[in-house]
Amino acid sequence: MAEGQIIKALSGFYYVLSEGNVFQCRGRGVFRKQKVTPLVGDRVVFTATSETEGYILDIRERQNELVRPPIANVEQAILVFSAVSPDFSAKLLDRFLVLIESKEIAPIIVISKMDLLDGEAKDAIARYAGDYRRIGYEVIETSAVTKDGLDKLAAHLRGRVSVVAGQSGVGKSSLLNALRPDLRLKTGDISTHLGRGKHTTRHVELLEVAGGLVADTPGFSALEFDDIELDELPRYFPEFREYGEGCKFRGCLHVAEPKCAVREAAEAGDIPPYRYDHYLSFVAEMKGRKPRY
Ligand code: GDP
Ligand code: ZN
Repeated sequence: MAEGQIIKALSGFYYVLSEGNVFQCRGRGVFRKQKVTPLVGDRVVFTATSETEGYILDIRERQNELVRPPIANVEQAILVFSAVSPDFSAKLLDRFLVLIESKEIAPIIVISKMDLLDGEAKDAIARYAGDYRRIGYEVIETSAVTKDGLDKLAAHLRGRVSVVAGQSGVGKSSLLNALRPDLRLKTGDISTHLGRGKHTTRHVELLEVAGGLVADTPGFSALEFDDIELDELPRYFPEFREYGEGCKFRGCLHVAEPKCAVREAAEAGDIPPYRYDHYLSFVAEMKGRKPRY
């Protein structure tokens, strides 16, 4: 018996990576018994029947489970935002951060295409990077052209399972190619993402990159807050937690309540005012959505 992790599922086979080798495995009815469908990312116990084949005996309990892409045990999301082209959007970044925080996945913020910046535009990005670092997020400035920041990114990928997230065209495929040139993921074409065409059957695969595993399909492509309740939202702004202790009311939503320490901190500039503005607009968006049954 050995342990491994499913890196690909195709035509009834599960490809299990174990100590550098991949075993093509069948399930042997264990899943029907456990009433779970194995997912890419699952940690499994298996028996090898040859040097390349085996069967899965057991699935370890999952830490988490994403639906899009369908993948288990994701530890972190590499959130790629370009400094320009497309322009950096703190509001879109905050939206992604909320979604990632709500799944209890650790976000790593990558600001890509830094080679295209200079002068004031570069200073503006540096200010944003500083703000997000103060909140507690890891921020890595990169360029797939000059290779700046790639070592740092590689160090974060090592030994972990990651999804890459971010708009089309921000340079996700280019970064992975720069870290592992033989991947040859397609770049630059809006209709493809991480090398997968729109009409290809959707299956997800974990790629070995920089000593870690990275999903070949971008995560968090649906950007609605459908799975989040309004009263949870403040939790997903980490810098609110500390100030929130000082609010007059328990369960303060930090909108119009009297003696709200979060609003005061935003007014004083202790919380970046744009973060608070984005929070308010997310609250409004969630209040405006149709009731769910
Ligand atoms: P994806 O859709 O997020 O996977 O983005 P791609 O990797 O396909 O990149 C989109 C476009 O941006 C391509 O034309 C790339 O050549 C370009 N690009 C990506 N990374 C960089 C970078 O670091 N610097 C510059 N100058 N261009 C980049
Ligand atoms: Zn408050």
